[in-house]
Amino acid sequence: MSSSDEEGEEYLFKIVIIGDSAVGKSNLLSRYARNEFNLHSKATIGVEFQTQTLEIEGKEVKAQIWDTAGQERFRAVTSAYYRGAFGALIVYDITRRGTFESATRWLDELKTHSDTTVAKMLVGNKSDLDNIRAVSVDEGKSLAEQEGLFFMETSALDSTNVNKAFELVVREIYNNVSRKVL
Ligand code: GDP
Repeated sequence: MSSSDEEGEEYLFKIVIIGDSAVGKSNLLSRYARNEFNLHSKATIGVEFQTQTLEIEGKEVKAQIWDTAGQERFRAVTSAYYRGAFGALIVYDITRRGTFESATRWLDELKTHSDTTVAKMLVGNKSDLDNIRAVSVDEGKSLAEQEGLFFMETSALDSTNVNKAFELVVREIYNNVSRKVL
């Protein structure tokens, strides 16, 4: 989605965060948007989003980032959640193998519901818990390569790579869109 105003171009991109329950989706978003982390966060039911503004090539780029807010517990993430998404972060927890195995299911769901080119990043969260990891960095990397995704390990707890992950997705979307416009 993009629009123009008198000052120049302005962009608004929807980005969705998906992945199994308790992998850290809400905390990644609150770390990025508000620099906050909750150790005992309780998911509120109902979709929530936060908007972050970035400047790219002198243009104002707004990322509207959506969180499932617990709906995935009931397999109730609807097609409306995915509609209009230009980017997606598919998140797993590096300490829980099952959440990594689910990543491909989330990817399939995303492909089913999205109707445009979506910039996708596979995110292995909780990298601060390296001592109890159940998924190696190489496994994450090779799944990402196989599926054509960007890849990063993050920690919402200690902030590692959180800004980087979101910003890379926003920049990729911007590049895709501006290439199309030109
Ligand atoms: P969601 O259900 O995917 O939205 O996950 P939450 O953001 O609610 O996080 C689930 C649990 O994992 C909470 O207890 C968080 O405090 C914890 N958590 C989230 N991110 C991290 C992280 O990067 N490191 C650690 N150690 N815990 C995390």
